Amino acid sequence: MTTQLSLLINGEKVAGNGASFDVINPADETILVSGKMASTDQLDQAVAAARQAFATWRTTPEAERSALLHRIADRIEANADELARIIVQEQGKPLFLAQVEVGGAVAWTRYNADLEIPVKVIEDSDEKRIEGHRKPLGVVASITPWNWPLMIAIWHIMPALRTGNTVVCKPSGMTPLNTLRLVEIVNEVLPAGVVNLVLGEREIGEAISRHQDIDKIIFTGSTPTGQDIMTHAAGNLKRLTLELGGNDAGIVLPGTDVNAVAEGIFNTSFINMGQTCAALKRLYVHDSLYDSLCSRLADLAQAQVVGDGLEEGTTFGPVQNAAQFNIVRELVEDARAKGGRILSGGEPVNGKGYFYPPTIVADVSNGVRLVDEEQFGPALPVIRYSDVDEAIRMANDCPFGLGGSVWGSDLDEAERVARQLESGTVWINNHAEVLPHAPFGGCKLSGCGVEFGVEGLLEYTQLQVINLRK
Ligand code: NAD
Repeated sequence: MTTQLSLLINGEKVAGNGASFDVINPADETILVSGKMASTDQLDQAVAAARQAFATWRTTPEAERSALLHRIADRIEANADELARIIVQEQGKPLFLAQVEVGGAVAWTRYNADLEIPVKVIEDSDEKRIEGHRKPLGVVASITPWNWPLMIAIWHIMPALRTGNTVVCKPSGMTPLNTLRLVEIVNEVLPAGVVNLVLGEREIGEAISRHQDIDKIIFTGSTPTGQDIMTHAAGNLKRLTLELGGNDAGIVLPGTDVNAVAEGIFNTSFINMGQTCAALKRLYVHDSLYDSLCSRLADLAQAQVVGDGLEEGTTFGPVQNAAQFNIVRELVEDARAKGGRILSGGEPVNGKGYFYPPTIVADVSNGVRLVDEEQFGPALPVIRYSDVDEAIRMANDCPFGLGGSVWGSDLDEAERVARQLESGTVWINNHAEVLPHAPFGGCKLSGCGVEFGVEGLLEYTQLQVINLRK
């Protein structure tokens, strides 16, 4: 495991010159490693290295860039065990889920390697030929959160590289070790300076947003931070892709087979201990099914084995950090005080570590904080409704618009409802599924732009129109 925290600038590992910080293991609250953040001078050095590398990387033939991305995927696969263990130690998720994360990292890298950058023929007549070409933007900065740290870093870095940009990444200070190891691996394959890494939190994030020689920021994190980035990025009109917070609603229609959907609803609500941007975070259930579905969800919650992600048999790990743990605790307490009925969990686990069991809260509705705010943790509010239009109204009565879902046996009716939800993605009889080839992004306060698929790839490019008069 990477035991030293460092920056990685122009192919060299260097110690940070900024403030000290610790990386904590959320399962026992011990310090995994201490290190120093980057100074703003060091950020400048990383950006300068990326700018210099851009001159040659942008002209590297497509086929070569693609082959190099496949070599990176091979190297990630060869180091999969180490990466998965690092993720468990600093992020907390159970080992099997960390292995899924590393598997996803490989899949997304290979998918991007094989994507074609399209040239669009806009007109081809006797008089003229007009074509749309895609050019790289330059230096792309990636700012990532702590929930799926390796996978999200890959989502940012690989399309940037595929399209000929160079990169400066800044992982979350709470989970930097996996991304540092990833960038080391990438640097075994790519020329120095193509991918660099700096450490830091708000201060260095703001310096990135204001930096005059960064051309684009791809950011995944909370809405307030995304708004900050947008404000500070105006100086040089940076391109932005912002994947922000969500408060995804799921609607269970009358006539749904409860046994067929309960497990899917549980798994997509509590994936990664609920710390997933597009997890199902509010569940609206028709009156006719309410009691039976609540009881199935509570059984599934109680069957979870809560513990250290490295321990055999653990199915449910800790919340990643103390601040998030306290938010979940506070929202559940507030719901209880407002008449919410706790069907499972509802109290933190005693002892060291940020353990909070999967918690199902019934008899709450819009207007209660657990429903209105993003809990980003293991507590699901279940809301009773009797009229489908009212459920749609409550689902849309929310400033976020990342994902949503409709669960039901009548697929035509499910689709009719799905089309009315205000979100970037609506799943029918599923939730939270992200795929390399399906564009993903939010509306309203959940962000702007998309990732994945060709649409996601093109966000790392500038359109240039060549208008040729014959
Ligand atoms: P956060 O916004 O606190 O931090 C995210 C990153 O931004 C970190 O690297 C942090 O150091 C950096 N940062 C902090 N202040 C900054 C500033 N002023 N300028 C620039 N960078 C700054 O988010 P978090 O707590 O790490 O993650 C949880 C949030 O992320 C949740 O709201 C969740 O919904 C969201 N999220 C969204 C998606 C998505 O795809 N839409 C995916 C995962 C997480």
